[in-house]
Amino acid sequence: MSTQPTAAAPLDGFWNDDLAKADPEIAAAIGSELKRQQDKIELIASENIASKAVLEATGSVFTNKYAEGYPGKRYYGGCDYADVIETLAIDRAKELFGCNFANVQPNSGSQMNQAVFLALLQPGDTFMGLDLNSGGHLTHGSPVNMSGKWFNPVSYGVTEGEELIDMEAVAATAREHKPKIIICGGTAYSRVWDFGAFRAIADEVGATLLCDMSHISGLVAGGAHPSPFPHCDIVTSTTHKSLRGPRSGIILWNDEKFTKPLNMAVFPGLQGGPLMHVVAAKAVAFREALAPEFKSYAHRIVENARALAASLEDNGLRIVSGGTDNHSMLVDLTAKNVTGKDAEKGLDRAWLTCNKNGIPFDTRSPFVTSGVRLGTPAGTTRGFGPAEFRQIGELIAEVVEGLSKNGPEGDAQIEERVRGRVSELCKNFPVYPE
Ligand SMILES: *Cc1c(COP(=O)(O)O)cnc(C)c1O
Repeated sequence: MSTQPTAAAPLDGFWNDDLAKADPEIAAAIGSELKRQQDKIELIASENIASKAVLEATGSVFTNKYAEGYPGKRYYGGCDYADVIETLAIDRAKELFGCNFANVQPNSGSQMNQAVFLALLQPGDTFMGLDLNSGGHLTHGSPVNMSGKWFNPVSYGVTEGEELIDMEAVAATAREHKPKIIICGGTAYSRVWDFGAFRAIADEVGATLLCDMSHISGLVAGGAHPSPFPHCDIVTSTTHKSLRGPRSGIILWNDEKFTKPLNMAVFPGLQGGPLMHVVAAKAVAFREALAPEFKSYAHRIVENARALAASLEDNGLRIVSGGTDNHSMLVDLTAKNVTGKDAEKGLDRAWLTCNKNGIPFDTRSPFVTSGVRLGTPAGTTRGFGPAEFRQIGELIAEVVEGLSKNGPEGDAQIEERVRGRVSELCKNFPVYPE
């Protein structure tokens, strides 16, 4: 029996049917993807469910427009309305995060970080970031990424027992290597970042302090995590994770001295014409995040993550660092003798979507891993509260138990039963119900 949600759903009613007529194959795949998002529970910590307003702006006529340059200083004619949306996006980003300057043009999270490197570093220069094995991002110095190939990354990690950022190592590594940039922020760290402590170390060694708040920017916007401002010099963020906007990046800063180098690095340094339809969608997302409801959304994300972590622990699974302060957590499956790879597959068969993830000091390869990463932003968007997340924790533990007893194929009966419970939850909390 297929373990996928049934049938390619037509996009009827979601948009009009121009696409279905012009390209039935692509329309069918988009319809199936919509159904997958509706019928499975999304636990990938870096994903969310953007509003229909954001989707509409992303699908707008601004995809037709070239607007190289910045508002008021474009290399193309006809940019009056492009200027309107980009100015609104910049003003809203500054208001949302409480800073003086914003560049809203980076096409993605990777490009926003590349722009900071291009603005501040020469090839071969040293910078410091969180080790990938401790939850750092690819663009913070992985040997297979440009950041690791063209620059000289040094890293800090988490401590062995407590699994918290090792601030002594941060200070010692910074003193030894004198990095030009120190990066705080990561992709799989579930505790609060002490930006003030990073500031003191950056000042001591004369480094620029960059916070990549991609994962937590929605929490920062809603006041559910301390702000990297005023401690950090430059702050980068994706806009599609907890912030719930379109797939993209932004750069924020306070000191005028960074304005020219950063803007020049984004354009013409790295990019040509900005994706103005995505800039429009970013402006929409910032407006949504400025609304009072977003504060409660951000706090519910954290409350839900605590409920999920507690439920997993009550059901015999270990959470790295013993819990979470944000939207995400790493589940250590070592004691169950289940790999992250098998857990990801087994959970997907039960319609719970997540990703395998290395845990600190993992002995398994990144293709196998000993853990899974879970997050609550998408589930919180669809309306799940702590009660639902406690249930989800039980369901995850049941699937893992099946894998622990039966090996990679898991327990088909358990997985079928869990699928039934997932379907019920999804029916009660629909995604894009209109
Ligand atoms: C997701 C993420 C990025 C990269 O974003 P992409 O849009 O996938 O390129 C960069 N930094 C951090 C910390 C992230 O979590």
